[in-house]
Amino acid sequence: MIIVRNKRDLRRERQKQSGKVVFVPTMGALHAGHQALMECARREAGSEGLVIVSIFVNPTQFDRAEDLENYPSTFKQDLAVCEAAGVDLVFAPLADEIYEGDSSVVVTESMLSTTLCGARRPGHFDGVCTVVLKLYNLTHPDVMVFGKKDFQQVAVIQRMVRDLDLPVEILPVETVREENGLALSSRNTRLSSEAYAEAPSIYATLQQCARELQGGAMEPAEILGRFEEVFQELQTETRIDYVELVDAETMQPLTEFGSKDAILAVAVFFDDIRLIDHITVQTP
Ligand code: AMP
Repeated sequence: MIIVRNKRDLRRERQKQSGKVVFVPTMGALHAGHQALMECARREAGSEGLVIVSIFVNPTQFDRAEDLENYPSTFKQDLAVCEAAGVDLVFAPLADEIYEGDSSVVVTESMLSTTLCGARRPGHFDGVCTVVLKLYNLTHPDVMVFGKKDFQQVAVIQRMVRDLDLPVEILPVETVREENGLALSSRNTRLSSEAYAEAPSIYATLQQCARELQGGAMEPAEILGRFEEVFQELQTETRIDYVELVDAETMQPLTEFGSKDAILAVAVFFDDIRLIDHITVQTP
């Protein structure tokens, strides 16, 4: 496995490759969710292809300075995870390698990114689109792999690829969860033991609401109340950032369920750690 730290070396390594290139962008602090993406990339590239993983904590997609400052970093372990997953090339640049001090061009998606995390984290998806396009231009992959855990991110990137005619396939991979349902996240390591023990209630409540919506036993307007009830019972201090039922294609809020597939999405602070999760609610 080759590790490169700057754009020049990345371009040189990339140019040596004539086979299929599959790219997995990450921010490090790698866990089994990232590993699933890398394994999928390895299968997709085949033994002859090149699997590239980037490890880059992109400052422009953080809306809260403290979240960026406290973002976990486990570089040595990350390299071991990449190696075990059969990655060929790790690109781990420093921020000033990626951004010019006076960079003045940003990519904005202006529809799908207006709700959910896009509405609550100003500039977040501009940061995501811009860095993903830059990394795309540096790696020229045939395929880019993303986790469905960040489903709005997948939708926004697919739209960028469509609207800017990027010749690349986007491959979404299922969310990897603990056995108790908690979606794996780099931020989980920052949870107190109490919060970690109580966080599975997020997915359990999503499942419960999905079942009731599908069975007609719950209206969309009742969802928020259900989450408030559940979280009130916990020892951990929680604050709901949003709970929304949205159209699975447009990401726009739905006030009624039944005519099309929906996504029920939640973002909640457990102490001061922001966790997101979602469930697809198919029409009965
Ligand atoms: P991050 O390092 O958080 O930027 O994530 C890098 C990639 O891994 C993104 O495409 C995420 O959606 C994906 N990812 C993060 N957590 C999970 C998970 N639990 N299951 C599947 N993919 C994940």
